Amino acid sequence: MYHQPVLKNRRTLLERAEKFISDVYFTDCNLRGRLYGATFPVRSLSVFSTPNRIPFSEAEQQIFQPAKVGDGYGLTWWTCWFKVCLSIPDEWHGKEVHFLWESDGEGMVWCDGQPVQGLTKEGSKTSYVLSRSLKENETHNITLYVELACNGLFGAGKGSMIAPPDPDRKFFVQKAELAVFNSTVNDLLVDFEMLIDTVKLLGENDQRGYQALYVANEMVNVCDVKNPNTFSAARKLAKKFFSEKNGDSQHTVHAMGHCHIDTAWLWPYEETVRKCARSWVTAIRLMEENPSFIFTCSQAQQFAWVKNWYPGLYSRIQHFVRRQQFVPVGGTWVEMDGNLPSGESMVRQFLEGQRFFHQEFGKYCTEFWLPDTFGYSAQLPQIMQNCGITRFLTQKLSWNLVNTFPHNTFFWEGIDGSKVLTHFPPGNSYEMKCKVEDLLNTVRNNKDKGRANHSALLFGFGDGGGGPTQGMLDRLERVMDTDGLPRVQISSPDKLFTALEANTSLLCSWTGELFLELHNGTYTTQAQIKLGNRQCETLLHDIEVASTLALIRDKNFLYPLDRLHHLWRLLLLNQFHDVIPGSCIKLVVEDAIKYYNEIRNTGSALLKEALQALLPHNLEKSCHVVFNSMPWERTEVISVPGGSAEPLLALVKVPSIGIASVEESVEPGCSVTVSTQADDSVILDNGILRLIVNRNGCVISLCLIDSNREAILNGCSGNQFVIFDDIPLYWDAWDVMDYHLQTRKPVTEIIEPVRIESSGGLRGSVTFSLRIGEASKLFQEIILDAQCPYVKFRTKVDWKEAHKFLKVEFPVQVHSANATYEIQFGHLQRPTHWNTSWDWARFEVWGHKWADVSEHGFGVALLNDCKYGYSVHRNTLTLSLLRAPKSPDATADIGWHEFTYAVMPHQGSFQEAGVIQCAYNMNFPLHCVPTRKSPSQAVSWSAFSVDCPAVILETIKQAEDQKDAVVLRLYESHGSTVSTMLRTTLTVKAAYYCDLLERPDTSHPVASAPASEFSLTFRPFQITSLLLVLQ
Ligand SMILES: [Zn+2]
Repeated sequence: MYHQPVLKNRRTLLERAEKFISDVYFTDCNLRGRLYGATFPVRSLSVFSTPNRIPFSEAEQQIFQPAKVGDGYGLTWWTCWFKVCLSIPDEWHGKEVHFLWESDGEGMVWCDGQPVQGLTKEGSKTSYVLSRSLKENETHNITLYVELACNGLFGAGKGSMIAPPDPDRKFFVQKAELAVFNSTVNDLLVDFEMLIDTVKLLGENDQRGYQALYVANEMVNVCDVKNPNTFSAARKLAKKFFSEKNGDSQHTVHAMGHCHIDTAWLWPYEETVRKCARSWVTAIRLMEENPSFIFTCSQAQQFAWVKNWYPGLYSRIQHFVRRQQFVPVGGTWVEMDGNLPSGESMVRQFLEGQRFFHQEFGKYCTEFWLPDTFGYSAQLPQIMQNCGITRFLTQKLSWNLVNTFPHNTFFWEGIDGSKVLTHFPPGNSYEMKCKVEDLLNTVRNNKDKGRANHSALLFGFGDGGGGPTQGMLDRLERVMDTDGLPRVQISSPDKLFTALEANTSLLCSWTGELFLELHNGTYTTQAQIKLGNRQCETLLHDIEVASTLALIRDKNFLYPLDRLHHLWRLLLLNQFHDVIPGSCIKLVVEDAIKYYNEIRNTGSALLKEALQALLPHNLEKSCHVVFNSMPWERTEVISVPGGSAEPLLALVKVPSIGIASVEESVEPGCSVTVSTQADDSVILDNGILRLIVNRNGCVISLCLIDSNREAILNGCSGNQFVIFDDIPLYWDAWDVMDYHLQTRKPVTEIIEPVRIESSGGLRGSVTFSLRIGEASKLFQEIILDAQCPYVKFRTKVDWKEAHKFLKVEFPVQVHSANATYEIQFGHLQRPTHWNTSWDWARFEVWGHKWADVSEHGFGVALLNDCKYGYSVHRNTLTLSLLRAPKSPDATADIGWHEFTYAVMPHQGSFQEAGVIQCAYNMNFPLHCVPTRKSPSQAVSWSAFSVDCPAVILETIKQAEDQKDAVVLRLYESHGSTVSTMLRTTLTVKAAYYCDLLERPDTSHPVASAPASEFSLTFRPFQITSLLLVLQ
């Protein structure tokens, strides 16, 4: 049958077939050279360039200048609109006609005023099909527009991808012409490619590979490239090979089209709007041609952008969503960072996302989709479960620098015991190309062989590359069920997980966080973004609490629902996985800061309105009212705003979720004393803590007075600033490497030695300043307030470093193998030793408002108001303060910074000592509001209280869909099973448990008659939401 090979030589046969389809060698006589037939120049090409991103309707009106192929256009971030006039030659009747466009940058074709397809060389999209078979009566004269964004798929880095953008780059047009496309040649090329790859990848030990080799060789024999009539015989040979089927047990690869689009990264948010449109319209076009093609698409924000800017495209997307080809997935507003957003922020990612998907497409997502984030909080499984999601897909842990994660398909168990079925596509990429290699890797890399027989393969160019290509679909079509290769099906997340759920009996579990052993610098980089996130989370919390109470106290008050939605969405947007981590270019940082400032400005006004509305209306004289948004009574020193230059301090006692007047302030049981020693060190003492600060600002003693327990390790100093060389291997803004620890240098150069700032009474404090490196300075005030169990370190830094890392250390007299870190709605422990590779790979970790190291009966906590990077090694608690990477933002973190941290030695466990509450108090300061009138009666009022200290009532907001209802969110914070009473002074008509999407469970009311007390029970770290219907 086949020609007998002259030589029994695998190599010559294989290379012969490769050369037959090479796009480099022998294109004059091989098959590849026949892919395109005749070509024809464009009739005219003209251009209009603008620094702005403008709509088509505006672009069309402009004056276009003559343009030509070979020229360079634009500057980085500009947009060049090309008007392309085409006349197809008459003799091309019956042929498939393409418009070929090759240029730098990212193109979008517009036809008849609508976007029709992306054209991006980097995403292998360089042709736009004008006609599959040109008819005589079809129009031969066509005008297209190509909107060319002057940036690459990955921005415009100067010299390397992640370098800061080159502002002066030119973007060249290399090709603009008409061409006849030979689709039968294309079909054969795909056949050959798949066969050749099968030969190469199955290798010399696999007989099936040899079968592919001889098929390919015979196909070259029968193909006469000049005679298309010979092609069908070759195709028949290929078809026979591809249709030889697998056995029943073969692994099934679920191929899903995808285009991972970073919501901002090496380009600004505004460009992402266009990246989405370019990519999604390209996917839609593929769906029209391939009715079985399925495209998965995440991030509600991106859908919202396209809805707003491209309504025509959006309605086509809705059509294909109904046909289940365009599959919204993920359920979140953006693919957020998995570490840094607060618990409530995580909830809002899902609440805003799921509500959007439900409203627009009629259903909630059932899978959480976060392929590319730098670690995953151990509280996510519960949050997912509570948002109607039981399945999770990611693959980022394949980037681990040290340890290989042991599973691809497993149950992931969170800190409360909630489990979600989790899948990491074994191909370790979310941008696969459907080559034989991708299919085989998906099976071979699967670490759950024998336990799970289905895997995902996500294919398509990301970041605006337009996602999948026809070529990728063609490859898959060949090998859907071919002996020797995995079985493939075009699939959806739902189909994959349904298949996995059908047999989970052998699956393993992984308990706790999914820690990424890389990118640990992102807990610290771009400190202003971290500060903005923490402050805005706090502000939105307080606005919601105050507005909800105002609603109850003042019948005329309108809850600012729409404005809060807008502000929340800005905050959620900035939590995108390249923005809050600080791994973005300067343009993005500027946008992010602009959004934080909008939240701060609008938010402050909203908070003020709400606070005014909730104050009592029967006041007679002027006074100051203090608002406490925390669910426990607080007694704290506050600054009372007034006319005098000296801040007026007062010690106030404010009930839980309530108000009190400053005039009701309390006397301290014990004043703060401050005294200078002979060696210039200063002793501060508030009856709870006594600390000694030496002349260069170090805390050389910190004593917990009641137990007479020294917290600072013998012979060491706390509040020791240290600086490190911080030069990673590549990912500058992202990575801090283990070896930076070997470059530790204490900061010791004094500018101003310690001196007393506040001399005692309600507050004692000292100030000092230090020089860091050659040009940076640090100013600090160490503050001890009356009745306060922690010492605050209010810090300002003028930071002018390059590739340095600033931290502060507290070596403590505590011996423990584990430290505890706050995470979303709870905490977890990590070792303080470096025994195994899993331990030392966590040399730099993340935490939220506090970290603690305790032995039985005593411990020390380190609190902060805007930092996320920690390390606790042996006895030393370290807080990461500032970095100075140069890529992708050369100016990252240069400038002024203000932040506060605090140290809190305590008796008993951190739970018993109230560390959690103290960290909240430091982050959610009491609000002191001057009012014109003064009380004729007591102002003090509390809306809610909870009697068990383990249970934290964090969120109080108006229900999304019910104006007369309030949603409360509580969680168990100690890691214990407890019961508590929730008390309220509001009149509650009915109370229900609800999920995080605020869907009430009406079958089990917490209380149905008017009630003011609710008995609740909690499992460790359980999050509970209540919907209270008010009278
Ligand atoms: Zn990404």
